[in-house]
Amino acid sequence: MVSRTIPVDDFDLVLFGATGDLAARKILPSLYRRFVAGQMPESARVIGAARSKMDDKSFRKLVRDALAEFVSEAKRDKKTIDAFVAQCSYIAIDAKGEGGWEQLKEAVRDEAVKAFYFSVAPALFGPLAERLRSYGIACENSRLVVEKPFGVDLESARQLNADLAASFDEHQIYRIDHFLGKETVQNLMAVRFANVMFEPLWNSRYIDHVQITVAETVGVGGRGAYYDKSGAMRDMVQNHLMQLLCLTAMEPPNHFDADMLRDEKLKVIRALDPLTPAEIVRGQYREGPDGPSYVEDAENPESRTESFIALKIAVSNWRWKGVPFYLRTGKRMSRRLSEIVVQFKETPHSIFDRTEGSPANTLTIRLQPDEGMDLSVTIKEPGPGGMRLVNVPLDMTFADALGPQGEEIPDAYERLIMDVIRGDQTLFMRGDEVEAAWAWTDPIIEGWVERRAQPYKYAQGSSGPEEALMLMHRDGRRWRELEE
Ligand code: NAP
Repeated sequence: MVSRTIPVDDFDLVLFGATGDLAARKILPSLYRRFVAGQMPESARVIGAARSKMDDKSFRKLVRDALAEFVSEAKRDKKTIDAFVAQCSYIAIDAKGEGGWEQLKEAVRDEAVKAFYFSVAPALFGPLAERLRSYGIACENSRLVVEKPFGVDLESARQLNADLAASFDEHQIYRIDHFLGKETVQNLMAVRFANVMFEPLWNSRYIDHVQITVAETVGVGGRGAYYDKSGAMRDMVQNHLMQLLCLTAMEPPNHFDADMLRDEKLKVIRALDPLTPAEIVRGQYREGPDGPSYVEDAENPESRTESFIALKIAVSNWRWKGVPFYLRTGKRMSRRLSEIVVQFKETPHSIFDRTEGSPANTLTIRLQPDEGMDLSVTIKEPGPGGMRLVNVPLDMTFADALGPQGEEIPDAYERLIMDVIRGDQTLFMRGDEVEAAWAWTDPIIEGWVERRAQPYKYAQGSSGPEEALMLMHRDGRRWRELEE
C-alpha cells in the first residue's frame, strides 16, 4: 500500500505548556513525525509558550532533547531535525499574567490557521482563552485544543465549557481523547459501516455481549497523589472507555461528519442505565514484585480510590436490549492490552459433535499492542480423521496487512493534531458529550463515596480482583484471558 500524506494548510501552532511532559513525550515528536512525512508546510511554525524564561535557542535545544528521547532512531537525522527546529520559537507567557501577549500577537499570522494547544492544567484553560480573545490574538480562523482531564465531575466540566465558550465557539474547540486518534478506533467505524456483513449482525439478535478492556502493567508511580483524587472511573472510564463503548454501540450516522457522529455517540451515553452496586467492582493493587501497593504509591494509607474497575453496563435501546457491555480497566495488571471484544451468539443449532473450540464467533478490535482486528471463525481442521472443528483467527493486523514495509503506524497525536489544522472535529469530543458522560458517571461515584465502599485488593500482575471475574461468571460468561 502506498502511504498517502494529505498536505495541510499553512499554520501557526502555539503550544502552551511547551516545557511540560506531554509536549516532550507526545506533541513535539508528533509534529516532527508529520514534518518528516512532508505534511508540515515549510512556512508553518510552532511557537512554544510557558512561564519559564528562555530564548529561541534554548527552546530549540529542549525540542531536540525531546526528539532524541521520544522519536525512534530510524526517523532522526541531524539535517531533518535542524530544519524542524528552525520552524520552532518560544515566547515566555504566564497564563494568568499580562506579559508576552503583545509579542504573541505580533508573532502569529492572520493569513495562516492559528491553533492554540492548551497542554496545561485545566485551571488555566479559562485564563488562556480569555487573554487570547481580549488581546485580539484569536480570530475566526483560530482553533483551540484542550487536553484531558476535562473536569472532574459534571459541575467542573460545565464550568470549563462555559469558560471556553466565553471566548470561542464550539466549532473552534477540540477536546482531545487520544483513543479516538487510534487507527483501530477509526477502523471500527470503517468495518461497521463500509462492509455489508457486520452491520446486519450488530444487534441483540446476534451479539451476546461486548467486553472492553484497557489493562496497564504500570502502577500509578510518581503521579500517585494526583491519581488518588481521580481513580480509574474518572481517569479512564468517563472518557476513553466511554468513547469506545459509544463507537461500538452507536447507530450509523447519515454521513461521516463531525456533528452527525457526535450526535450518535451522545444518544448512546444518554441511553446508559444507571448502575447498581452489584454491577461495579473496584480494586486496588497489593504490594508485589513490581513495586509498592496502590495505597503506598498514592501516599494515602486510608485511600478508597480504585486503581481497577469493572462494570456491567446496559444500553437501553432497541438495538442493545439484553446485551451487556462489560468494561474493565486497571493498573499493574498482567499485560498491557486494550481491546474491544464483540462476542457473537452461538449458532441456533449445531449439526456437529463439538469437541473443541467455541461455537461462537468473536470479533476482537485491538488498540494495543499490534493495532488490528481479528475475527474468530470455526472451520474444519485439515486432514483425515473426521469432522473436527477448530477456531481460527482471520487476522487483520494493520501493520502486516496495510503498512508499508517497516513503517510505524502514526501515533494518535499525529492524526489528531493534523485534524485540528484541517478543521476536522470528527475525532474530538463535543462539550455536550463530555457533560453527558459526567452526568452518568457522577451518581455512580457519589454512590460509592456515600457508602464508603472499600475497593477489593488484587495481586500485581493479575487480571484484577476475583470479584471482577464473578461479575461475568454470574452471567455464565467469562472475560477474555489477558494472556490469550
Ligand atoms: P507538566 O509537565 O506539569 O507541564 C505543565 C506545563 O504548563 C509546563 O510547560 C509549565 O511550564 C506550564 N505552565 C504551568 N503553569 C503555567 C502558567 N501559569 N502559565 C503558562 N504556562 C504554565 O504537565 P503535562 O504532563 O505536560 O500535562 C499538561 C496537561 O496535559 C495537563 O492538563 C495533563 O493533565 C494533560 N495530560 C498529560 C499527559 C501526560 O502524559 N503527561 C497525558 C494526558 C493528558 P512553566 O512551569 O515553565 O510555566
